[in-house]
Amino acid sequence: MSLVRIDDLSIDYRRAGKTIRAVNELTFSVEEGSIVGLVGESGSGKSTLALSLMGLLPRNGSVTGGSILFEGREMQGLSEDDWRTVRGHDMGMVFQGAMNSLNPVKRVRDQVAETVRTHEPELGKDGSIDRSHELLNLVGIPSDRHEAYPHEWSGGMRQRGGIALALSGRPNFLIADEPVTALDVIVQARILRLLEDLQEALGLTILFITHDLGVVARLCDRVVVMYAAQAVEEGTVEEIFQSPKHPYTKALLGSVPNFAKGRGKSHGISGSPPSLINPPQGCRFHPRCPDAMDICTREDPYQTTFSSSQRAMCHLYDRQEADDAE
Ligand code: ATP
Ligand code: SF4
Repeated sequence: MSLVRIDDLSIDYRRAGKTIRAVNELTFSVEEGSIVGLVGESGSGKSTLALSLMGLLPRNGSVTGGSILFEGREMQGLSEDDWRTVRGHDMGMVFQGAMNSLNPVKRVRDQVAETVRTHEPELGKDGSIDRSHELLNLVGIPSDRHEAYPHEWSGGMRQRGGIALALSGRPNFLIADEPVTALDVIVQARILRLLEDLQEALGLTILFITHDLGVVARLCDRVVVMYAAQAVEEGTVEEIFQSPKHPYTKALLGSVPNFAKGRGKSHGISGSPPSLINPPQGCRFHPRCPDAMDICTREDPYQTTFSSSQRAMCHLYDRQEADDAE
């Protein structure tokens, strides 16, 4: 069952009299209990989507089309009061900078207890402190460190603290936006293990946003690949890593040594992502695509379905779809 269903979603920013379409007609679902990875280069719209899911778009950003259903409920048009209940209680978010979001002049235990109290005032002071200890234990902070100040913790511990804060309202959906990017490799691996453990122990559903395919391969069940505000391919981790269809997905994989096929040598993707103020006509990837054809410069590709779980948006497969339909 889908916990989150994003349907034909478009999000625009207005800046200096111009419109930036940061998310364009995006459709995908997050099944209950799964971990979905959202990948793509910088500027592809991943964080904008995450902010919209939490009702946290900045003032100059707005949803201009489509819908977001959470547990079957439409999120567009919720009042700020409703959002406050949804945020933290239904959904929690861990940011890349979450480790720096702790208040430096307050003991971590008290900060977590305060957030717990906003969600469960009935717990009272002592109850929320007990719950804070419980949460800090859950994210692997030794009890004798709970009462320290954030600067007395390492980066990895502070990121765990950020996760404890995100879990303080007992959400069943967690959005993790580049949560391990600023950490060294060993700490990264520990935080990923923690997220896996939490997902299992609490039955969480996670949307994991990253540009790191290694992390996706390790953690996720499904992958959505974004390019220039659009979802260009979607599939299970096996499908995306073993049998990618979209040239951009292939290029992304080719840019990581562990996943590069053929000569076993990784190579970056030539060129840069387009401006979202005036994206290229036709397929947005055509200026960088090694397989580009004439039609790609003129016509938007439409979606081809390869299995019940894999689909991609590319003219290379127009013929295949036609053949399949015969
Ligand atoms: P990154 O990995 O660098 O965070 P991203 O894939 O998360 O990138 P977004 O941050 O969502 O991408 O940005 C998508 C587009 O929206 C980019 O072109 C970006 O410049 C633009 N954008 C983001 N925030 C704003 C804003 N507040 N005002 C105007 N444009 C914005
Ligand atoms: Fe490349 Fe054309 Fe496919 Fe776009 S539609 S990814 S340009 S082959």
